[in-house]
Amino acid sequence: MVNFICKNCNYRFKSERIGEICPYCGKKEVIKEPSAEDLLKDE
Ligand SMILES: [Zn+2]
Repeated sequence: MVNFICKNCNYRFKSERIGEICPYCGKKEVIKEPSAEDLLKDE
């Protein structure tokens, strides 16, 4: 599962697919939220 944030209403939700539609406002203005593990990586 991937965390997404809607740029339109800041609603956070989880989905398995990229390019999801915000379930709250119905917009496609969602971005993928980096996970805590991704942030800990120091490459
Ligand atoms: Zn939204």
